[in-house]
Amino acid sequence: MIITCVESIPLRIPFKAGSVSDASAWGDSNLPAADSLLVRVTTDQGVVGWGEAFGFRAVASAKIAIDQLVAPLCVGQDATRIAPLMLDVQKKLHVFGRGGALAFAISALDIALWDIAGKAANMPLCQLLGGGAADLPCYASLVRYSDPPLVRTSVRQAIEAGFGMLKLHEIELPAIRAARDESGPGVELMLDVNCPWTLTQARAIADDLKTISPKWLEEPLWPPENVAGLAELRSATGIPIAAGENVYTLMDFERLLAAGAVDFVQPSPAKMGGISELRKIFPLAAVHNAEVMPHSFYDGPGLLAAIHATAALGTADSMIEWRRFDLEAAIYGRAFSPKHGRISVPRGAGLGIDPDPDVIGRFRLSL
Ligand SMILES: [Mg+2]
Repeated sequence: MIITCVESIPLRIPFKAGSVSDASAWGDSNLPAADSLLVRVTTDQGVVGWGEAFGFRAVASAKIAIDQLVAPLCVGQDATRIAPLMLDVQKKLHVFGRGGALAFAISALDIALWDIAGKAANMPLCQLLGGGAADLPCYASLVRYSDPPLVRTSVRQAIEAGFGMLKLHEIELPAIRAARDESGPGVELMLDVNCPWTLTQARAIADDLKTISPKWLEEPLWPPENVAGLAELRSATGIPIAAGENVYTLMDFERLLAAGAVDFVQPSPAKMGGISELRKIFPLAAVHNAEVMPHSFYDGPGLLAAIHATAALGTADSMIEWRRFDLEAAIYGRAFSPKHGRISVPRGAGLGIDPDPDVIGRFRLSL
């Protein structure tokens, strides 16, 4: 089955008018929408696969990486030989970097090839990977609001939508405390701060953070590759630590885990190499007594890749990250969303659902 075309498809889906979950809350008031980058891989036998590269501000650069670097290496190759093709792509492109937009581009291609493999076998991807759960627990990943009353509103709305586990992206104590005050003790809270602090600063704030009993503290330190610092923070404070969305290679995941830096490791399939690399992290985490909690702050094929791999390879404690954006449209339509804090694993072949062509038609961005 020969790859005949690799097409990159940028999307810009605006936030719903009046929504509080707009991107200005991230301090990026020029970002009016959630930008995504889909990849559509076509084969000579008519089987079509969909992938996703990490988006937002990186869409334009990842698109160039797909169009100019990745696609020319793939067109004309056998889509069913995923491992040798991905190894060849990685070896030929490694001189241009092992992370960032190029890695996002490679990830999108890999996810699309696995979608094709599932469709060719007429099996859902989780079955191809060994079986797995029919549904998975799902946590609501909230945007950063900073303003305590807005934090309370978003926490209340997420709980009312059926979530019993919420992740905050707050970094100021009043906002963090407001979330716990609103949720009460029965809701599991995770706290993702996106790499703001030195080790000294993190240690100074640790006792305050413990008062909300976070299930984990995510990416507390700058720079993200400070694995020794994470390990020290973890052992000195006893706060469970999560990290991994900014780790790209298997050997760097091994360094993170071997350092004793994390309780929860968070590979991001649309960033770190797709299904081919993500599936290696589950056994690696297990031998280091860590739990895989994939990063999936996106809503296209990357999210489905995280769901299928976790259903097949995760444990009973694995959870899916559900980005709680209030957008004008959803790539897979409104029907695909968590119910009572759980997400069904799509049972169709491959990733199980294709992106809605109407959504692509309405929100395709010309770059
Ligand atoms: Mg994060």
